[in-house]
Amino acid sequence: MTLNFEFSDDQIKLKEKAAKFVKDEVIPAIDKYDKNEEFPWELAEKAFDLGLMNVRIPKDYGGKGLGLLDEIIIIEEICAGCVGLGTSLNVNSLGFEPIILAGNDDQKNKYLKPLTEKLSFISFGLSETCCGSDAAGIQCKAEKKGDKYVLNGTKFWITNAWIADNFVVFARTGEINRKKKRHLSAFIIEKDWEGVKVADPMKKLGLRTSPTSAILLKDVEVPIKNRLGDEGDGFKIAMDTFATSRPAIGAFGVGVARAALRNSLEYANKRNAFTVPLKKFQLIQQLIARMILGIESAKLLTYKAAKAIDNGKPDMILSSCSKIAGSEIATKAAKDAIQIWGGRGFLSNNPVEKLYRDAKVLEIYEGTTQIQEIIIGGQALEGGYSP
Ligand SMILES: Cc1cc2nc3c(=O)[nH]c(=O)nc-3n(C[C@H](O)[C@H](O)[C@H](O)COP(=O)(O)OP(=O)(O)OC[C@H]3O[C@@H](n4cnc5c(N)ncnc54)[C@H](O)[C@@H]3O)c2cc1C
Repeated sequence: MTLNFEFSDDQIKLKEKAAKFVKDEVIPAIDKYDKNEEFPWELAEKAFDLGLMNVRIPKDYGGKGLGLLDEIIIIEEICAGCVGLGTSLNVNSLGFEPIILAGNDDQKNKYLKPLTEKLSFISFGLSETCCGSDAAGIQCKAEKKGDKYVLNGTKFWITNAWIADNFVVFARTGEINRKKKRHLSAFIIEKDWEGVKVADPMKKLGLRTSPTSAILLKDVEVPIKNRLGDEGDGFKIAMDTFATSRPAIGAFGVGVARAALRNSLEYANKRNAFTVPLKKFQLIQQLIARMILGIESAKLLTYKAAKAIDNGKPDMILSSCSKIAGSEIATKAAKDAIQIWGGRGFLSNNPVEKLYRDAKVLEIYEGTTQIQEIIIGGQALEGGYSP
């Protein structure tokens, strides 16, 4: 097997384009949006116009047909500017992945194509107040009535629901059976259908540039043609979607950690203590060294997990490992960046304070760290890992 750690020329161009967008547009503007807890529409428009969104939508449906590694290269850069913006731009992938995996041609034409034509959003609605980790336990019900399903329930913590036109929603279509897990189905729902209501965005510790809302479904009539795959496929569709989306969260984490490193290097170069620059202290050098070690390790894992998916061999263990590695280095690097900034780091309105608030969610959404550990350990103990 050839081991190749080089990006292609096209990937280098993508990376440079995304990095320039972050340097010129995102970093100078983002604090205002964070402070106002506002979604940065102008930045999203620019990202869309630059071709930095939805890159994996297949060419047949108007997209670029790029791979997950390409998406990850872009999103790592954007998250080095703002992980809230990165989350909201990339949640489209979480929303459209079930359609790519299980949608038919009509569904793909109707719901993927518009995402490539103008800036628009699709959300992924699995979690409910009762159950985030316990996806099989969700309560939202879909009852079949003639040529329709009638959906009732509430989805909670849904990224972009506030700004999305459409949602992929998971609901119960049968009696709960935790062994077979055939009691969930997936549906595409349009926001302006009768009975669909999106609540105001929630107040959050961080990720304030990314709107998170509840979706309330009351007697929502969904045509059968809007079901993804067969009845009962929902749980599998959700899990297969996560296998693809988790390396992206690893890349979000790498981006956050890179921002923490960037700010730490700048500060350690300009701040003096005991009459010498901070950078001369070996304990500061150790913090920097650990950031770089974590960034480089997490990068390799996310790229490897993404490449496995691009090669048609998704690997749940690698995907989960990459999510843990990226999110852990993000939270650690953000914490250590505040340490390097000292008292200034603890004040509001500085870049490392925002990183610290933003990083934590990476260990929670799209499967907490504990859930990733259960996947990795559980599969390995069933013989599912070969080093
Ligand atoms: C900002 C934000 C955006 C989000 N966006 C979306 C979205 O777009 N779509 C969506 O569907 N969801 C979304 N979520 C929901 C998110 O995926 C869930 O919050 C997450 O999966 C955790 O679920 P929970 O909050 O119910 O925690 P719980 O499942 O109640 O877990 C609580 C704690 O118990 C631990 N735990 C649970 N089960 C076990 C176990 N078996 N063994 C050991 N420990 C366990 C967990 O790791 C955690 O530490 C978002 C959440 C946030 C905060």
